[in-house]
Amino acid sequence: LFLSLEGIDGSGKSTQGRLLAEALRALGHVVTLTREPGGSAGAEEIRRLVLEGDPDRWSAETEILLFTAARRDHLEKTIRPALSRGEVVICDRFADSTRIFQGVTRGDLRETVNRLHALMIGVEPDLTLLFDLDPEQGLSRATARRGHEMRFEDMGLEFQTRARAGFLDLARAHPDRFRIIDAAPDAETVARAVRAAVLDALT
Ligand code: C5P
Repeated sequence: LFLSLEGIDGSGKSTQGRLLAEALRALGHVVTLTREPGGSAGAEEIRRLVLEGDPDRWSAETEILLFTAARRDHLEKTIRPALSRGEVVICDRFADSTRIFQGVTRGDLRETVNRLHALMIGVEPDLTLLFDLDPEQGLSRATARRGHEMRFEDMGLEFQTRARAGFLDLARAHPDRFRIIDAAPDAETVARAVRAAVLDALT
Protein backbone atom coordinates (compact mmCIF):
# COMPACT_ATOMS: atom_id res chain seq x y z
CA LEU A 1 0.00 0.00 0.00
CA PHE A 2 1.37 3.38 -1.03
CA LEU A 3 0.19 6.33 1.08
CA SER A 4 1.12 9.97 0.68
CA LEU A 5 0.66 12.83 3.13
CA GLU A 6 0.07 16.32 1.78
CA GLY A 7 -0.73 19.76 3.10
CA ILE A 8 0.67 23.22 3.65
CA ASP A 9 3.64 23.70 5.94
CA GLY A 10 2.75 23.42 9.60
CA SER A 11 -0.21 21.16 8.87
CA GLY A 12 1.26 18.44 11.10
CA LYS A 13 1.69 15.81 8.41
CA SER A 14 5.19 14.76 9.52
CA THR A 15 4.08 14.22 13.14
CA GLN A 16 1.05 12.34 11.87
CA GLY A 17 3.23 10.25 9.56
CA ARG A 18 5.28 9.08 12.55
CA LEU A 19 2.16 8.30 14.60
CA LEU A 20 0.61 6.41 11.70
CA ALA A 21 3.79 4.39 11.13
CA GLU A 22 3.81 3.41 14.82
CA ALA A 23 0.14 2.44 14.74
CA LEU A 24 0.55 0.30 11.62
CA ARG A 25 3.68 -1.39 12.99
CA ALA A 26 1.77 -2.24 16.17
CA LEU A 27 -0.74 -4.03 13.92
CA GLY A 28 2.07 -6.08 12.39
CA HIS A 29 2.64 -4.16 9.15
CA VAL A 30 6.14 -3.48 7.90
CA VAL A 31 6.27 0.26 7.22
CA THR A 32 8.69 2.44 5.28
CA LEU A 33 8.26 6.06 6.34
CA THR A 34 9.91 8.38 3.86
CA ARG A 35 9.72 11.98 2.66
CA GLU A 36 10.08 14.29 -0.32
CA PRO A 37 12.06 16.00 -1.55
CA GLY A 38 14.49 13.31 -0.44
CA GLY A 39 13.99 9.76 0.75
CA SER A 40 17.01 8.30 -1.08
CA ALA A 41 20.68 9.32 -1.06
CA GLY A 42 20.51 11.04 -4.46
CA ALA A 43 17.21 12.72 -3.76
CA GLU A 44 18.48 14.05 -0.42
CA GLU A 45 21.31 15.70 -2.36
CA ILE A 46 18.79 17.31 -4.66
CA ARG A 47 16.79 18.40 -1.59
CA ARG A 48 19.78 20.40 -0.42
CA LEU A 49 20.12 22.01 -3.86
CA VAL A 50 16.50 23.08 -3.84
CA LEU A 51 15.88 24.02 -0.21
CA GLU A 52 19.21 25.51 0.82
CA GLY A 53 20.84 28.61 -0.56
CA ASP A 54 19.21 31.45 -2.45
CA PRO A 55 15.57 30.46 -3.06
CA ASP A 56 15.42 32.58 -6.20
CA ARG A 57 18.29 30.94 -8.05
CA TRP A 58 16.01 28.38 -9.76
CA SER A 59 13.16 29.26 -12.06
CA ALA A 60 9.86 27.49 -11.46
CA GLU A 61 10.57 25.30 -14.51
CA THR A 62 14.04 24.30 -13.27
CA GLU A 63 12.54 23.51 -9.88
CA ILE A 64 10.00 21.20 -11.50
CA LEU A 65 12.85 19.32 -13.18
CA LEU A 66 14.81 19.06 -9.94
CA PHE A 67 11.84 17.86 -7.90
CA THR A 68 10.95 15.34 -10.60
CA ALA A 69 14.55 14.09 -10.75
CA ALA A 70 14.53 13.69 -6.96
CA ARG A 71 11.20 11.84 -7.14
CA ARG A 72 12.46 9.50 -9.84
CA ASP A 73 15.46 8.53 -7.72
CA HIS A 74 13.28 8.13 -4.63
CA LEU A 75 10.89 5.90 -6.57
CA GLU A 76 13.68 3.71 -7.98
CA LYS A 77 15.73 3.39 -4.81
CA THR A 78 13.21 3.49 -1.97
CA ILE A 79 9.51 3.37 -2.87
CA ARG A 80 9.39 0.61 -5.51
CA PRO A 81 11.69 -1.77 -3.61
CA ALA A 82 9.62 -1.35 -0.41
CA LEU A 83 6.34 -1.91 -2.24
CA SER A 84 7.69 -5.02 -3.92
CA ARG A 85 8.65 -6.37 -0.47
CA GLY A 86 4.99 -5.95 0.43
CA GLU A 87 5.52 -3.05 2.83
CA VAL A 88 3.28 -0.09 3.55
CA VAL A 89 5.00 3.04 2.23
CA ILE A 90 4.10 6.34 3.90
CA CYS A 91 5.49 9.23 1.91
CA ASP A 92 5.56 12.71 3.47
CA ARG A 93 4.78 14.70 0.27
CA PHE A 94 4.75 13.26 -3.24
CA ALA A 95 3.78 14.53 -6.70
CA ASP A 96 0.81 16.57 -5.44
CA SER A 97 3.25 18.90 -3.68
CA THR A 98 4.92 19.62 -7.01
CA ARG A 99 1.52 20.06 -8.65
CA ILE A 100 0.71 22.72 -6.07
CA PHE A 101 3.97 24.40 -5.05
CA GLN A 102 5.55 24.50 -8.50
CA GLY A 103 2.45 24.03 -10.67
CA VAL A 104 -0.07 26.41 -9.15
CA THR A 105 1.38 28.85 -6.66
CA ARG A 106 4.12 30.14 -8.95
CA GLY A 107 2.23 30.56 -12.17
CA ASP A 108 0.16 28.01 -13.98
CA LEU A 109 2.59 25.24 -14.80
CA ARG A 110 0.21 22.38 -14.07
CA GLU A 111 0.43 20.98 -17.59
CA THR A 112 4.24 20.92 -17.44
CA VAL A 113 4.18 19.15 -14.07
CA ASN A 114 1.64 16.58 -15.25
CA ARG A 115 3.39 15.81 -18.53
CA LEU A 116 6.70 15.32 -16.82
CA HIS A 117 5.01 13.17 -14.20
CA ALA A 118 3.43 10.95 -16.87
CA LEU A 119 6.78 10.58 -18.62
CA MET A 120 9.09 10.03 -15.64
CA ILE A 121 7.05 8.90 -12.63
CA GLY A 122 3.77 7.45 -13.82
CA VAL A 123 2.44 6.27 -10.45
CA GLU A 124 0.06 7.77 -7.92
CA PRO A 125 -0.36 6.75 -4.29
CA ASP A 126 -3.23 4.38 -3.48
CA LEU A 127 -4.37 6.89 -0.88
CA THR A 128 -3.45 10.53 -0.23
CA LEU A 129 -4.27 12.15 3.11
CA LEU A 130 -4.65 15.90 2.78
CA PHE A 131 -4.05 17.67 6.11
CA ASP A 132 -6.21 20.72 5.73
CA LEU A 133 -5.47 23.70 7.95
CA ASP A 134 -6.05 27.43 8.09
CA PRO A 135 -2.84 29.03 6.75
CA GLU A 136 -2.47 31.38 9.74
CA GLN A 137 -2.49 28.38 12.06
CA GLY A 138 -0.03 26.57 9.79
CA LEU A 139 2.29 29.55 9.75
CA SER A 140 2.38 29.91 13.52
CA ARG A 141 2.99 26.16 13.96
CA ALA A 142 5.69 26.12 11.31
CA THR A 143 7.57 29.14 12.63
CA ALA A 144 7.39 27.78 16.18
CA ARG A 145 9.43 24.81 15.02
CA ARG A 146 13.20 25.02 15.10
CA GLY A 147 15.89 23.60 12.87
CA HIS A 148 13.61 23.34 9.88
CA GLU A 149 13.94 24.73 6.39
CA MET A 150 12.05 28.00 6.46
CA ARG A 151 11.59 28.33 2.77
CA PHE A 152 7.85 27.98 2.55
CA GLU A 153 7.18 30.05 5.65
CA ASP A 154 9.27 32.84 4.17
CA MET A 155 6.96 32.90 1.19
CA GLY A 156 4.19 33.96 3.53
CA LEU A 157 0.53 33.76 4.11
CA GLU A 158 -0.65 34.56 0.63
CA PHE A 159 1.41 31.72 -0.81
CA GLN A 160 0.04 29.31 1.79
CA THR A 161 -3.52 30.45 1.15
CA ARG A 162 -3.16 29.67 -2.56
CA ALA A 163 -1.50 26.34 -1.76
CA ARG A 164 -4.36 25.35 0.56
CA ALA A 165 -6.95 26.16 -2.10
CA GLY A 166 -4.92 24.26 -4.70
CA PHE A 167 -4.72 21.15 -2.52
CA LEU A 168 -8.46 21.26 -1.83
CA ASP A 169 -9.23 21.59 -5.56
CA LEU A 170 -6.98 18.62 -6.29
CA ALA A 171 -8.65 16.55 -3.57
CA ARG A 172 -12.11 17.34 -4.92
CA ALA A 173 -11.00 16.43 -8.45
CA HIS A 174 -9.74 13.01 -7.26
CA PRO A 175 -12.16 11.93 -4.53
CA ASP A 176 -11.27 8.23 -4.84
CA ARG A 177 -7.63 8.83 -4.02
CA PHE A 178 -7.89 11.67 -1.49
CA ARG A 179 -9.18 11.84 2.08
CA ILE A 180 -9.33 15.33 3.58
CA ILE A 181 -8.28 15.34 7.25
CA ASP A 182 -9.13 18.33 9.45
CA ALA A 183 -5.69 19.19 10.83
CA ALA A 184 -6.90 21.83 13.31
CA PRO A 185 -7.63 19.65 16.39
CA ASP A 186 -5.01 18.25 18.77
CA ALA A 187 -2.58 15.62 17.47
CA GLU A 188 -4.36 12.65 19.07
CA THR A 189 -7.71 13.59 17.52
CA VAL A 190 -6.11 14.03 14.12
CA ALA A 191 -4.27 10.72 14.54
CA ARG A 192 -7.58 8.93 15.17
CA ALA A 193 -9.04 10.36 11.96
CA VAL A 194 -5.90 9.29 10.08
CA ARG A 195 -6.06 5.73 11.43
CA ALA A 196 -9.73 5.45 10.52
CA ALA A 197 -9.05 6.60 6.93
CA VAL A 198 -6.08 4.26 6.49
CA LEU A 199 -7.62 1.18 8.11
CA ASP A 200 -10.62 1.68 5.86
CA ALA A 201 -8.28 1.62 2.84
CA LEU A 202 -6.39 -1.44 4.11
CA THR A 203 -9.53 -3.59 4.39
O1 C5P B 1 7.43 18.91 3.91
P1 C5P B 1 8.55 19.79 4.34
O2 C5P B 1 8.10 20.80 5.35
O3 C5P B 1 9.77 19.03 4.76
O4 C5P B 1 8.99 20.59 3.03
C1 C5P B 1 10.14 21.39 3.05
C2 C5P B 1 9.91 22.66 2.27
O5 C5P B 1 9.91 22.44 0.86
C3 C5P B 1 8.59 23.29 2.60
O6 C5P B 1 8.82 24.67 2.78
C4 C5P B 1 7.76 23.00 1.37
O7 C5P B 1 6.78 23.94 1.18
C5 C5P B 1 8.79 23.03 0.26
N1 C5P B 1 8.41 22.25 -0.92
C6 C5P B 1 8.23 22.88 -2.14
N2 C5P B 1 7.89 22.14 -3.24
C7 C5P B 1 7.73 20.80 -3.16
C8 C5P B 1 7.92 20.16 -1.93
C9 C5P B 1 8.27 20.91 -0.82
O8 C5P B 1 8.37 24.09 -2.24
N3 C5P B 1 7.42 20.11 -4.24
